Amino acid sequence: MTPCPDCRWPLESHDRDISFHLPDELEDWSAEELAEKTSRLDTFLHVKPNRFFMRALIPIHLHHDHIVVFGAWLAVDRPTVENASRIWNTPEYGSFSCSGFLANALPPWPNIVGAPLTVESRHLEELPYAVSSSDAKMNEIVNSKWSHQTVLNSLAEIT
Ligand SMILES: [Zn+2]
Repeated sequence: MTPCPDCRWPLESHDRDISFHLPDELEDWSAEELAEKTSRLDTFLHVKPNRFFMRALIPIHLHHDHIVVFGAWLAVDRPTVENASRIWNTPEYGSFSCSGFLANALPPWPNIVGAPLTVESRHLEELPYAVSSSDAKMNEIVNSKWSHQTVLNSLAEIT
C-alpha cells in the first residue's frame, strides 16, 4: 500500500472502474419481474412498455490525474436506442453522441440521479463518455477536478 500525500486512502485505490448493474429504478425488482418486463443486451436495456436505457461511462477526474469511472445507465428515448444499436460496432459509432438522463445516483453526489447528460463516443470499442450537461451541477461533476476525499470517501461506503 502506497500512502497518498493528499488523503487517507492508499494510492492503489485512486483509479477505479465502478459499474452499476441496473438503473436505480429497477434495483428493487425481483428476478421474475426483471425477466418478465425487461430485455437486455450488454449495452441496452428495454423496460416494457416504453423505457429505454443505455450504458455510458462517467469519468470523474481527481486532482493529480487520478480518475474514477462510473459505468452507469442513461435513460434515453426509443429513437436514440434504435440509432445507437444500428451503428454500434460500425465506423459510424465513432461520431456517436446522444443525450439522456442519468439513471444511477453517483455515490459522491447521490442527488444527481435524473440529471440530463450528453455522452459521445471516444473510442470505437468503448461505451460513450459523459461530456456535458445542461444541469450546472452535473456539468461540474464531469468537467471539474475533485478532491480525493470527496470521491473516495463515498466509495468506501459501497465497496
Ligand atoms: Zn489521495
